[in-house]
Amino acid sequence: MISYQVIEHGQPLQKVLASTPKPQGSEVLVRVTRAGVCHSDLHIWDGFFDLGGGKRFYVKERGCVPPFTLGHEPLGVVEALGPKARGVKVGQKRLVYPWIGCGKCAVCKAGQENYCVSGTRFLGVNRAGAYSTHLLVPDPKYLIDIGGIDDSFGATLACSALTAYSAAAKLPDMDPQDEVAVLGCGGLGLIGISVLREKGVKGIVACDVDDAKLAAAAKLGAKKTVNMRAADAAQQLQGIAAAIDFVGSPATAGPGIAALRKGGRYVICGLFGGELTHPLPPIAQRAIGIVGSYVGNLQELKEVVALAKKKRLRPTPVETRPGAQANAALEDLKAGKVLGRIVLDMEAAQ
Ligand SMILES: [Zn+2]
Ligand SMILES: [Zn+2]
Repeated sequence: MISYQVIEHGQPLQKVLASTPKPQGSEVLVRVTRAGVCHSDLHIWDGFFDLGGGKRFYVKERGCVPPFTLGHEPLGVVEALGPKARGVKVGQKRLVYPWIGCGKCAVCKAGQENYCVSGTRFLGVNRAGAYSTHLLVPDPKYLIDIGGIDDSFGATLACSALTAYSAAAKLPDMDPQDEVAVLGCGGLGLIGISVLREKGVKGIVACDVDDAKLAAAAKLGAKKTVNMRAADAAQQLQGIAAAIDFVGSPATAGPGIAALRKGGRYVICGLFGGELTHPLPPIAQRAIGIVGSYVGNLQELKEVVALAKKKRLRPTPVETRPGAQANAALEDLKAGKVLGRIVLDMEAAQ
């Protein structure tokens, strides 16, 4: 098999040829056809997350030690089954749920594997991921039939749409006309707009620093767009009922939290980095909620796929590129040049 691997953090991925693994026990070997390129791949590639104040969280502390293969939006075809793998057949096309926990702890048993505390097996993070022609999945239960959904869009459901869906589920009940800000209109923000529209939110306020991304947001159904570089950006946001912050930086969370109306809620799922200092009394006095959201669980991914199958999620812009161009895709994403999502075609990995 061919994989594009991080050999050294921050350095170009290298093409590695290795023998294709044989699935053991309940494992399934998937021949990868599509692999979405996510913003968090950039952090894992760099090797750290910026915690602000000069502090960093190094991914090697979570078992993400080179050489390893990135990619947590895998779609592919079942190629081989371990002797105990049941419920799936060779030749079937499947989306892979990547946020796999230990499977044994109480959190995992309650269906929240993305919150596992005793040994995650996240594909593309601390297990080999999808920037490869082949991928080992621990169990068939992590494979989802996406029916007739477009392959490249389908792949992006595993992180991009799932993260947006789980974040939107943490918003309070609102009136349809309430304003909800979407901060950051990259791949996640755009699908976030589709998710909010599907939930019946009409007052979506899209925020970004790039007018092309804001135009794409308006096309997907945002009622209002705010360029965060505008002098009156903070005023334009005033009074929002809630927000989903797909960036997660002081430049978004600062004005975003300040703009919440009383009782409003702010959901942070972006991992851009930095830190926020906020006075404590107004959190109580304004009765605001600040919540984190991290990817989503297997059941939520099944719900997202069901919505996409019924065409209830407006597809966001997706550009499919040959898998062999993985490095260029990461560079373009880092430079902010990507509208929506790049998805790698791993059948063109040569
Ligand atoms: Zn991701
Ligand atoms: Zn667990």
